[in-house]
Amino acid sequence: MANVILDGVTKKFQDKSGEIIAVDDLDLNIRDGEFLVLVGPSGCGKSTTLRMVAGLEMPTEGTISLDDKLITNLSPQERDVAMVFQSYALYPHMTVRGNMSFGLEEATELSKEEIRERVEDAAEMLGIYDLLDRKPGELSGGQQQRVALGRAIVREPEAFLLDEPLANLDAKLRSEMRTELQHLQEDLDTTTIYVTHDQTEAMTMSDRIAVLNDGELQQVGTPLECYHRPNNQFVAGFIGDPSMNFLDVTLEDGRLVGEYFEYPLSDEVLANIEGHDELVFGIRPEDIEILDAAESRHEYPATVDVVEPMGDENTVHLAFEEQERTESALTSTISGMRNVDELESIGIGLPESAIHLFDAETGESLHNRSLGEIEGDRPLKGAQPA
Ligand code: ADP
Ligand code: MG
Repeated sequence: MANVILDGVTKKFQDKSGEIIAVDDLDLNIRDGEFLVLVGPSGCGKSTTLRMVAGLEMPTEGTISLDDKLITNLSPQERDVAMVFQSYALYPHMTVRGNMSFGLEEATELSKEEIRERVEDAAEMLGIYDLLDRKPGELSGGQQQRVALGRAIVREPEAFLLDEPLANLDAKLRSEMRTELQHLQEDLDTTTIYVTHDQTEAMTMSDRIAVLNDGELQQVGTPLECYHRPNNQFVAGFIGDPSMNFLDVTLEDGRLVGEYFEYPLSDEVLANIEGHDELVFGIRPEDIEILDAAESRHEYPATVDVVEPMGDENTVHLAFEEQERTESALTSTISGMRNVDELESIGIGLPESAIHLFDAETGESLHNRSLGEIEGDRPLKGAQPA
């Protein structure tokens, strides 16, 4: 096991339309034994980053090390990491046993007996022992994925690199495999970099998340840090489903003025946004209170546009009273047991303790929600106020 350290890593590609900066000056320190999820939208540079750690791409600038060993220019075989691809990349003509043994036979001095033992142990661990004599074509997607994982595990590498390994599985299997992978990683205690575009996978599986956008690192933190204390509007919007609500506002005389609402601020919040006038107001769907009517500060008359029942939860699309209903400015989630009707006139509460404020131009977070409200005196683990 090892720390994986990326220092100022940049990757540029040339294509017809010119130069693409796929990864831009990335600093990342993945700790020994850590499960780090690299997450971001399609095309943001996740696979390129992983491929550079694996040795399948060379950085244009910067260095990559395992602990204090520089591996930037080593071939994939010379670095002690194992990569698992979305496509599994199994040899179709070989049995499961053959697929799992092949790398060890080619690249190590292990005896036949040692290889057999490693392969059988890993197969046992993954629940595919009975499939060792089958060929990939005879296996389900989930079983093939396990073989691909097994092939990485038998190498006993310093680090696992997984690129969207669950993307080809159906939703139910994907969620089972998420839990299984987490347990496996805990048991093996091997440093793992897991790439996905799916923020749910990032939130549920990781020790820490690294959020990437447009080749640039946006934030590294625990899932709850990224959720409650986002560095910027991008992270705030990317992490969480449904997304945080955003409304453009201007600061005027200590109040935020939006198109359909005005929001007086306490001195404490005002102090955080000093010097910024053009802002984005953010509030998460679960923090919007649904009331019978708007009666006090930070409460507004609203109309229910659409209700999406999810069973455990209802997703409710809302518009401010003066707004065209179909423009639905806000999305709220409430208990599935609670009844609200489409077209109903209600009140909504936007509690000041739950709001986020971002600079409209740079997207930088100026004010994040308070956390005292959530857990009483005990701040959420890993999400202490900055
Ligand atoms: P992700 O895995 O986050 O979806 P990638 O790392 O695959 O993103 O790609 C990042 C950017 O680099 C994209 O704009 C992609 O088109 C570009 N890119 C990746 N590989 C190459 C390549 N071999 N040649 C040219 N451009 C590439
Ligand atoms: Mg990719």
